[in-house]
Amino acid sequence: MTDFDYDLFVIGAGSGGLAASKRAASYGAKVAIAEGDLVGGTCVIRGCVPKKLMVYASHFSHFPHESAGYGWTIPEGTLDWEKLRDAIQTEVSRLNKLHISFLSKNNVELISGFAKFVDAHTVAVGDRQFTAERILISVGGEAFKPDLAGIEYAITSKEMFLLPQFPKRFAVIGGGYIGTEFAGIMRGLGSEVTQIIRDHYVLKGFDNDVRINVQEGMVNHDINFHTCIDSNSLKIIKNSQEHENALTIAFNDAEGKAQQVNADVVLAATGRKPNLAPLSLEQAGIAVVNDAIAVTEDSCTNQPHIYAIGDCTNRVNLTPVAIAEGRAFADTVYGHKPHFISHKNIPSAVFSQPEAATVGLSEETARELYGNRVKVYKTKFRPMFYSLAGGEAKTMMKLIVVGEEERVVGLHMVGKDAAEIIQGMSLVVTMGGCKKDLDNTMAMHPTAAEEFVTMQ
Ligand code: NDP
Repeated sequence: MTDFDYDLFVIGAGSGGLAASKRAASYGAKVAIAEGDLVGGTCVIRGCVPKKLMVYASHFSHFPHESAGYGWTIPEGTLDWEKLRDAIQTEVSRLNKLHISFLSKNNVELISGFAKFVDAHTVAVGDRQFTAERILISVGGEAFKPDLAGIEYAITSKEMFLLPQFPKRFAVIGGGYIGTEFAGIMRGLGSEVTQIIRDHYVLKGFDNDVRINVQEGMVNHDINFHTCIDSNSLKIIKNSQEHENALTIAFNDAEGKAQQVNADVVLAATGRKPNLAPLSLEQAGIAVVNDAIAVTEDSCTNQPHIYAIGDCTNRVNLTPVAIAEGRAFADTVYGHKPHFISHKNIPSAVFSQPEAATVGLSEETARELYGNRVKVYKTKFRPMFYSLAGGEAKTMMKLIVVGEEERVVGLHMVGKDAAEIIQGMSLVVTMGGCKKDLDNTMAMHPTAAEEFVTMQ
């Protein structure tokens, strides 16, 4: 028994905090979790889940022409944006309630409100104070907007789910996960879309073939691109001559020539940062490095009884990683099953259109690490579905292997069902499998996935 109110106080009920709190309580710890917004965090409330629902919604616009080759006559439809938006919010609200009920079933006390540190063992939520033997910070991140003229007119991904009207013209600044996903969604839902990026291709850091194939596919979906722009010259101007809410994005292109894009909604998808300002971390003496909470590999901060997981530590900012870090923390500290997770070979998907998914090393990184011991197998083909549906859609698959034994160190795919396929295929990389293991695996025919086990 301790003199503290709780054994563990968790700050932030997102994916990581929820997983950690329930796992710790399952070992008998007395646990509370504070959340100032809906329970579920970025992923459930304003990220992965509503985004994926919007991706599904955007696919329906392809049905009339894709089905025509299969003998169907399906009239062009119209989108009722308000209906879609409200249906997604209803689902988000259902999930919020579900997560609250899971907390209660798992004996975790939910405290509504934003928590901040009073001292190293005390947090305040509104005018109440709570003490805890250990504290876990899992506050996630928030959208970062660069300091450029007129940035106040741009919205972030959070507001994309709540747009009062559907924009005829949509522009996005940024070529990362969020910008690339929303460009595809909004095009599919019917907007004219322009993506403005400061590199040649979207998705910096991904394998170059992934970047090129995603962008080619997006161009085939009539998404307009401005690449290699000078980001220092960017500004957003309210263009009330057109209509009250119209905006103009002005910038210089790679040649220094002035360019303009008009839009009804501008999304700034220019990265995310840990959400630390409201926490008063200094009250507990918690070290922050490069805007993120500094942690050891077992997620411990410089204070031995305070831990941090998920995006606020800026390691690998993905939901399943935060969940795994949270569970590893609880297993280690409360379950006496010490372990920590590896941040290597984490599969990742971009729900762009075309979809991309990847695990392990890009060809570029593999060549830096292993030089001419790297061999690449690659294929690009038109998936069977499109043989009757028509269109330009292609699938690209790539296998990166190293050494004589041809150990698989990277798998990449762009095309239909890439995320579903790479999730299964990622086992080959995590288990240290070799090309011969793929060769020894019988193909399933006719599938796209069979290409991964038949590549020559
Ligand atoms: P990213 O860091 O992925 O991309 C940010 C983009 O903004 C880059 O293209 C960057 O350019 C550009 N940028 C940054 N500053 C400026 C500027 N001043 N002017 C113009 N462009 C700028 O961030 P996102 O916001 O897309 O996503 C944040 C995180 O959310 C991701 O890292 C990921 O962890 C997570 N996420 C994951 C998803 C998934 O798993 N499917 C989906 C959505 C989000 P440059 O590349 O040149 O630096």
